[in-house]
Parts: sequence; C-alpha cells; structure tokens
Amino acid sequence: MKFTPKEIASISQDFEKASPQEIIQWAVDEFCPNIVLSSSFQTQSLPLLDIVKEVQPEMRIFFLDTGMHFWDTLIFREHLEQIWNLNIVDLRPDEKWRTVLRHFGSDLPDTDSNLCCYIRKVQPMQKAMQGLDAWITGIRRDQTENRAHAQILEYKRDGLLRIAPLLNWTGEQASNYIAEKNLPRHPLPSSLYPSVGCKPCTRAIQPHENERAGRWAGKGKTECGLHTDMFNEDGFAKSDFTLK
Ligand code: SF4
Repeated sequence: MKFTPKEIASISQDFEKASPQEIIQWAVDEFCPNIVLSSSFQTQSLPLLDIVKEVQPEMRIFFLDTGMHFWDTLIFREHLEQIWNLNIVDLRPDEKWRTVLRHFGSDLPDTDSNLCCYIRKVQPMQKAMQGLDAWITGIRRDQTENRAHAQILEYKRDGLLRIAPLLNWTGEQASNYIAEKNLPRHPLPSSLYPSVGCKPCTRAIQPHENERAGRWAGKGKTECGLHTDMFNEDGFAKSDFTLK
C-alpha cells in the first residue's frame, strides 16, 4: 500500500472540500496506470466519465457485461465509446458458471438475486481488480443508506483503494452538470428511470419515489454487493444458495 490507512483517512477528510477534478487529478498522479474507473453507462454516470476523460483520456473503464442489460444501455455504451473514444473493458462472468447460467441464468434474478449479482457483477469485478491499486466509482452519499456512510477514500479488501470523487454531490448537482455541459443521455427517460441497472431488477419509479426505488424493487436489497460486505472472505454470497 502506497499510503497507510491513517494517511488515507486524513487525505480523505481534506477531500471533503475538494472538487471532483482535484480528487481525480490526485488519484491519477498517485496511481496511474494501476487505476480504473467503473461505469454502468447510465445518464448519472456521465459527469464522472466526462471529468475522468478530461484528466486522463486513456483511463480503463470497467463495464460489467452481465448479459441482463437493457438494449438501451448497450446502445448508449457503444455510442459513448465511439464519440468519446473511451477505453472500455467489458467484464463477464467466469467460465465456471457457464452451466449454471445456461440452465438457470434467466431465473436467477428472481430466485436468488444475491447469487446472481455475485456471479455477474461482484466476482468479475474482484477478479479484474487483482493487481490494481485504485478504483474510481461514481457513488454519492444521497443515493442509499449504505452510501451515506461512505468515505471519499476507503481501503477495501486486499488493499484496493476505492475513490468516490462525487460522494458529496447531490442528484441535482449531477443533473445540473449534465444540463450545463449538454452531455448525452441514456435513451430511457430519466424521469422514470433515474437509476438504471439490469433489466430484470430495474423498474420505472413513481413521481414521489427515491431515485433508486426502482432498483431491486420487492427483492429486499438496495446494493449489488460491490460497495458492501455482502460477500465473505471466500467470496460466497449471503444468499439462499449454499455451496457445501
Ligand atoms: S442486478 Fe439483477 S440481473 Fe443484474 S446481476 Fe444483480 S440480480 Fe442479476
């Protein structure tokens, strides 16, 4: 680790008043080339993508190709890759899950969404992060209860540093940035789909609902596990599916 946990806590505290550009510039200066950005390529992802490409145009961008996305998301990803010349790396489930996914893959979001997220999101991301020093993510404190307690800089398992430059932004600030810079928009209407994930786990929201109310609605979860400790040291999900 380049910085001790105490040093990271101190720098993170200083960054509470820094701009996303300043945080990203520091991250690039300290960790390039062992640093990546992850993106789900929804409209909310655009401010961070826009800032990162200005600071470091060659930054690798991890996209979780779960096989369950909306067509609109895939088209939007392609569009952005072309117009911004992005360096996107698609992450897919490990081959060892091929038989499970062939037989049960389409049912898994409903029968065991934790296992589904583990196979399609968490494990591919954990594998791709091996050997890296830092990971930039677009989470914000106003999105979920879990994220409200996050820090701008946080060490995760294996010494990977998670960097959240937009942690202090509100949804309104993100929307204003998108409008001011006239950034491209995901084809699904943002009034109905302010947060877009996999198709089986995303529904349109009602006018009075929180922006993430349409994610895993009725499934009893609010996070896929990338930003929580849903998965133990052996990598198994706290799911109904147990391996003995
Ligand atoms: S969001 Fe839904 S479909 Fe996507 S990996 Fe998680 S459970 Fe599966």
